[in-house]
Amino acid sequence: MKSLIDKLEKDSILTKDEFTSLIQNHSDDDELYAAKKARKIADDIYGKEIYIRGLIEFTNYCRNDCYYCGIQRSNKCAERYRLSKEQILLCCEQGYELGYRTFVLQGGEDPFYSDEAIEDIVRSIKSRFSDCAVTLSIGEKEYESYKRFFDAGADRYLLRHETANDEHYRKLHPAELSLEHRKNCLYQLKDIGYQVGCGFMVGSPFQTAETLAEDFLFIHDLKPQMVGIGPFIPHQKTRFADEKAGTLKQTLFLLSLLRIMEKNVLLPATTALATIDPTGREKGILAGANVVMPNLSPVDVRSKYTLYDGKVCTGEEAAECRHCLERRIESVGYHVVISRGDYKLV
Ligand code: SAH
Repeated sequence: MKSLIDKLEKDSILTKDEFTSLIQNHSDDDELYAAKKARKIADDIYGKEIYIRGLIEFTNYCRNDCYYCGIQRSNKCAERYRLSKEQILLCCEQGYELGYRTFVLQGGEDPFYSDEAIEDIVRSIKSRFSDCAVTLSIGEKEYESYKRFFDAGADRYLLRHETANDEHYRKLHPAELSLEHRKNCLYQLKDIGYQVGCGFMVGSPFQTAETLAEDFLFIHDLKPQMVGIGPFIPHQKTRFADEKAGTLKQTLFLLSLLRIMEKNVLLPATTALATIDPTGREKGILAGANVVMPNLSPVDVRSKYTLYDGKVCTGEEAAECRHCLERRIESVGYHVVISRGDYKLV
C-alpha cells in the first residue's frame, strides 16, 4: 500500500477504488509510513506551530434530529441552554487574555438567534477584538444569511458534510435533511468567500471503506481550507446508543491521508479524539493535525453540550485547559502560537 500513499502525495488524488483499497487493506506499517509523511508535509508548511481556536458552544437547542447527536431535538433528557451576547463576549475576553485569536461559535440549529442576532454578535466580537478571526458553526442556512454573517465580519465557517454518500447520509439523518442541501451550503459558503471546513465522523454507523473513499473525493472536489474529523462516539439517549465508537487507529490514519492529499489544510485534533484516548490530541498532531480547539464555554454549561458520551474537559476552567494543552503539545515537540492561524497557501 506504500505505493498508493506515495501516489496520493504526488498526485493529491486517487481513484475511488484506490482509496477504498488503501482504507480497507493497509497494514500497521502503512499507518506509520503515512503518519511520517503527513507530519513532514505539515512541518514543511506550518513548522512546529499549532494553532488554537477557542470554542464557544453558545446554544444546545436544535431544530434537527440527527440520529447520532446527543443534542438532537427529540432528546427530551437534554438540559437546554443559551448564552447571551454578553456571556459570549465574556468568553471571548477570557479567551483573548489566554492568547486565543480565533473564536468558534458553535451551536445547534437554534431559530431563537435571528440573522440579526448572529450579525450583531459577530460585529460585536470583531469590533472588540479586531485582530481575531470569527468562525461560525451553526448549520444549514440560506445563502442570504451566510452572506449577511460574512458581511458582518465572520471569517470562517465549519459545516461537516458528515458523509458524502447519499444512502449513508439517509441512514444518519431524518428524511427532511439532505446531503445535496448540505453540500450546496458548503459550495455557497466558499463562493461567498469564507474559509470553509467540512468533515465527517470516523466509524459512524453504516460507514464503509467505500463511503470514506467518497468522502475523500468530495473533499478533493470542494477544496476546503479546513477538515474536521473525529471518531463517532455513541450517545446513550440516541438510537445509536449501542453502536461501536470509531477507533483511534483509523482516525489517525485518515488524518494522515487527509494531510497527504490536501497538504496545507487546517486539520484539528478534535475533542472526540481526546475523548477516546487520553493522549488522542497529541497522537493526532503526530499523525498530521495542526489545530486544536479547546473549550471556552462557561463551565456551568459545558456538560450540557453533550454531542456524545464521556466528552473530556467539561469541568475545567478555560485557563486550566489552555495550560494543560500547552504542556501536551510541547510534550510532542510542538508549540501553541498566538495567531489567527489562517490557512497558508503553498
Ligand atoms: N449544528 C452544527 C454543529 C453540529 S455539532 C452543524 O450542523 O454543523 C458539530 C459536529 O459534531 C457534527 O458536525 C458532528 O460531526 C459531530 N458529532 C455529533 N454527534 C457526534 C457523536 N455522537 N460522536 C462524534 N461526533 C459527533
